[in-house]
Amino acid sequence: SKSEGRNCFHFFTQQMQLDAELTAKLHNDLKFALETNAFELYYQPIVCLEENKIVRAEVLLRWKHEGAFISPEVFIPVAESSGLIVELGHWVRKEAMASLLEFKRKGIEIGLSINVSMYEFWSHALQDCLVTSINDIAVDLTTDSFPFDGITLEITESLLMKQHQHLIDALQKLRDMGIEIAVDDFGTGYSSLSYLSHFPVDHIKIDKCFIQESGSSVKQQALVKAITTLSHALDLHVIAEGVETEEELQFVRSADIEAVQGYYFYKPMPKQNLLTLLE
Ligand code: C2E
Ligand code: CA
Ligand code: CA
Ligand code: CA
Repeated sequence: SKSEGRNCFHFFTQQMQLDAELTAKLHNDLKFALETNAFELYYQPIVCLEENKIVRAEVLLRWKHEGAFISPEVFIPVAESSGLIVELGHWVRKEAMASLLEFKRKGIEIGLSINVSMYEFWSHALQDCLVTSINDIAVDLTTDSFPFDGITLEITESLLMKQHQHLIDALQKLRDMGIEIAVDDFGTGYSSLSYLSHFPVDHIKIDKCFIQESGSSVKQQALVKAITTLSHALDLHVIAEGVETEEELQFVRSADIEAVQGYYFYKPMPKQNLLTLLE
């Protein structure tokens, strides 16, 4: 049911505990899936409330494994622990950037928000390679200047908990290219908002557990409002994740949050569906 397992504090324990055997099998299957191009990207629109318009879409990885979709919450951790995440992340960026170019050439104005694993961030010979990987893809895809300003990279709050000069430099480098940075799952980690002022970021995405508990808890509502007010004071845009109901949307509006991602508006969808929606 909706209230079950949605508590913010269960966030980390909620993730599946895979046994070693299954992990090994998934690892092999992931490797094979990368070789055979078996992944697909879905796109979930992000709606700007003031303009009532789709401004971006989050790119979400999909993998049909043995006939059924397997959740990224299951296979991403396996890819992370085995190092495959670097190759997988590169594949996601390449695919997403090709889509961005395709949209632009069709005259469709939309940005894409791409998840970057924190493991990937650290494993790249300190982040320069992320910049290189994005530049290489852009060169491969186009001879004109690539629309980097259409890209947002989503990093999780936990990445920011180690306040590392290299990380700050890397984020700044990406922003200098025109790429925007979003802090994902905000509120699930243990960092404070004042902390955010040290990082070159543009958006914060308030985790869906806060939105989904806002209906039943006045305290959660106060927390979301405080996060939003402080974010605005720091010049950050705020996105609410996981808005499913009319009540949640109303709350989000009342909190002055500017953008929404959630089933209330759209579920993640294949590229063709997004195109149909926007054309
Ligand atoms: P996330 O980055 O927080 O992505 C948002 C998740 O919330 C997605 O789950 C999306 O389908 C789901 N969602 C969106 N709106 C609603 C709603 O209204 N209600 C509910 N209950 N859920 C909603 P998904 O696609 O299963 O992805 C799960 C996680 O897997 C992502 O969480 C992200 O951490 C990871 N992930 C997905 N794709 C990628 C990727 O390409 N790279 C990396 N590194 N991680 C990815
Ligand atoms: Ca995300
Ligand atoms: Ca999120
Ligand atoms: Ca998440």
